[in-house]
Amino acid sequence: MSHYTLHCSKCDTILENVSFSASGHCKDALLETRYRDVRFSESDAQGIWKFNWLPVHTPDFPQPGPVVYLSEGLSRHLGISGLYIVFNGYWPEKGADLHTCTFKEYEAAVVIQNAKESGVSGLTVASAGNTARAFSHLSHVSGFPVIIVVPRMCIAEMWYLEERARIPTLVVGDGDYSDSIDVAKRVSHIAGMPFEGGVQNVAKRDGLGSVLLEAAARMGRLPDHYFQAIGSGTGAIGVAEMAERFIRDGRFGSRLPRLHLAQNLPFAPMVKAWQKKSRTLFSEDLRPELIAEITTRVLSNRYPAYSMQGGVYDILDAAGGEMYGIPNIEVFAAMEIFRQTEGVDIAPAAGVAVAALIRAVRAGSVEKDEMLLLNITGGGEKRYAQEYKTHEVDPYFVPKNISDKEIEEMLCSLLNKSS
Ligand SMILES: *Cc1c(COP(=O)(O)O)cnc(C)c1O
Repeated sequence: MSHYTLHCSKCDTILENVSFSASGHCKDALLETRYRDVRFSESDAQGIWKFNWLPVHTPDFPQPGPVVYLSEGLSRHLGISGLYIVFNGYWPEKGADLHTCTFKEYEAAVVIQNAKESGVSGLTVASAGNTARAFSHLSHVSGFPVIIVVPRMCIAEMWYLEERARIPTLVVGDGDYSDSIDVAKRVSHIAGMPFEGGVQNVAKRDGLGSVLLEAAARMGRLPDHYFQAIGSGTGAIGVAEMAERFIRDGRFGSRLPRLHLAQNLPFAPMVKAWQKKSRTLFSEDLRPELIAEITTRVLSNRYPAYSMQGGVYDILDAAGGEMYGIPNIEVFAAMEIFRQTEGVDIAPAAGVAVAALIRAVRAGSVEKDEMLLLNITGGGEKRYAQEYKTHEVDPYFVPKNISDKEIEEMLCSLLNKSS
């Protein structure tokens, strides 16, 4: 018997023994993992595999976890106490050992392990940047086949670790993002390797939610406030679902952490919608030209999990949340403040979260004796580069009108090469 079932947040159906689940049950609603263990526990396994609330049974490759610590420098700077930082990235002095430097590694590791246990033969990943890097890395670490498909414009942000070169990375040379999705769909179908599934994949959300597992374990309770920069909303939803589980457990408090979520202006569709208490996003806030003006491409998702049942609107509504729109200049300032006060470089997206924290403290939204959790979703890339050599991806260019037969031939040679 599996240690979890899946529960549809809309129609209350319980699904038993589901294998790989990258799609929902009801339209516009998320499936949620229900663990038979209502009590949270940690085993003596390494990294994230010590947590009982992950949809995996017998992980067979390593995945380092988040590092949680009580802040001194940034706390002093802000004049607060009770600020915990969950650091996800590379910072060996603190024990943080994510070589691709973001919390995307947890989703990649849990999704891959979950897929492996479900008899899936491989996965197709159609996102770029941090997600692609995490899946390539974990494909290498786990030996599980992954094909990455990205549009050409994304290639610049895809640095890799040396051994990654053998993970097939298809770059759709002409055309835009939707053309590359179209090619990815055909590749996925022909290779028999499903999409990783985005926010609909429970393994992805629970994997990202491990930041709260580590935090609650170290803090001994749920934080009163939680700060994070959001792009698709997947990570924050994963954390909010974990918070619900801790409340059902009963030993970690009875109040959901208040959510302080942030995006980078001028592209901040969820901020704009939430400020008007709207469940639907406004098309004028989704214009692609706004994306060109932000520093945090990882936060530029134009199809975020906002409106659906169990999505960002609902978690903000349940926890009494706030949203912050942070302009570039404040992002850079916050990154610098963090580096100076805590001692490591952070990703621009994490700078967005730090800036939201600074605003919340200035606005008096947090009380002196409250416990705060700041999610540094990515950091230590510069620190990493001091020690390791990184490489540019060695892409395999494909035209958007590639035929199915050509895809087949290409896959044959690529997958043989990589195994
Ligand atoms: C992906 C990412 C985010 C946003 O996470 P979502 O789950 O897409 O909301 C924030 N920070 C970093 C560093 C990321 O890579």
